Amino acid sequence: MKFDYLIVGAGYAGSIIAERIATQLDKRCLIVEQRNHIAGNAYDYYDENGILVHKYGPHIFHTSNKQAWLYLSQFTEWNTYVHHVNAVIEGKQVPVPFNFNSIASLFPPKYAERLEALLLENYGFGQKIPILKLRETNNKDLKFLADYIYENVFLGYTTKQWGYKPEELDPSVSGRVPVYLSRDNRYFQDKYQGIPKQGYTEMFKRMIDHPKIHLLLNTNYKDIIDDIKFDKIVFTGALDDFFDNVHGVLPYRSLNFDMKNFSKERFQSVAQMNFPNNYDYTRITEFKHITQQKADSTTVAFEYPCEHIPGQNVPYYPIPKSESHEQFDKYLKEAKKQKNAYFVGRLADYKYYNMDQITITALQKFEKIIAKNK
Ligand code: FAD
Ligand code: UDP
Repeated sequence: MKFDYLIVGAGYAGSIIAERIATQLDKRCLIVEQRNHIAGNAYDYYDENGILVHKYGPHIFHTSNKQAWLYLSQFTEWNTYVHHVNAVIEGKQVPVPFNFNSIASLFPPKYAERLEALLLENYGFGQKIPILKLRETNNKDLKFLADYIYENVFLGYTTKQWGYKPEELDPSVSGRVPVYLSRDNRYFQDKYQGIPKQGYTEMFKRMIDHPKIHLLLNTNYKDIIDDIKFDKIVFTGALDDFFDNVHGVLPYRSLNFDMKNFSKERFQSVAQMNFPNNYDYTRITEFKHITQQKADSTTVAFEYPCEHIPGQNVPYYPIPKSESHEQFDKYLKEAKKQKNAYFVGRLADYKYYNMDQITITALQKFEKIIAKNK
């Protein structure tokens, strides 16, 4: 059988592009996925205790982009879920993003009031200030606060997570969790927040359930590329892998998830507990908070960041640093020379996309490029 498109990867990027090609262009696609399942890093499944867990780390969907929300809503209904995170600091559980409630739980009331007043006077209510920006303040008390937050919330966590200090990475990394001048304890303030009612994997199943979409699991595309006929390729894996690492292996960060089941209904008070200053893990996530599943036992994931070793563990995060972007640009130049090949995805674009961002990016790639060159 001949395919119009060979699509490498069954995550968001690959599945969305396949769905668009099949339904909008009426062309035949073959999705080749090296894992034994669809849904990429968003894959969820029921573990041996019957608890729905996210194999590659907790995934919470949130967006202010209506197009992303409506597109995915064609394939799933949603349970409303609003994410809450606490960090353990000096033995206390304090809300993250760090906000006025966090200040109140760590400092004596009079001093907390003074800090709040100073923040309001200098920045204004509702402002979100990246920690590296707040540290630039000239005010003595605010500088003390900024250094306190930097030392207690960011330094240890970021060093564990990335192997670098916050200031050694793109400012956008620590900027994802800015100090928030409010009493709003939600992790995200996006308009649309939810978890697919029957899970992410089910949402993907529906997305690619089409007579023109064929799926081959457990297969690295390199092992079959010479044996199948196709006109164009859409690649959503790592760009350095596509080009056989000619410009060196790009830096990624990997993770180990230690899943543990406990014979009790609840393990912790919120879905995610961060440990910036203790232990080798960064966070513990309890899935039942997120999925809203009712069960007598509960499964949690301890997250241990580690070096990425090609071929041995998963390249989860591109490392957002100027040197990595320079190296990536060499691959981008190679990619631009390719005919009949399209590249899209967190790994292919070497970008720290959230699920809504890759949804929009894939939809745009289809509309602006693939559909125009069909
Ligand atoms: P992927 O999901 O990585 O899919 C790429 C697929 O290609 C993979 O299945 C891979 O096996 C396959 N592949 C690669 N190379 C080959 C090959 N040679 N042959 C065959 N198949 C191949 N986003 C949020 O919005 N909210 C969250 O809470 C959130 N939490 C996250 C937590 C963690 C720990 C991580 C790592 C990411 C999180 N994300 C979250 C981001 C989210 O996972 C990504 O935005 C999304 O998965 C990107 O989709 P993708 O299709 O680009 O990549
Ligand atoms: N971060 C931190 N302490 C925290 C939470 C986040 O230092 O308690 C930093 C850390 O560098 C992390 C980044 O902010 O990698 C982004 O956090 P986010 O929760 O968005 O990480 P993700 O869920 O994408 O792994």
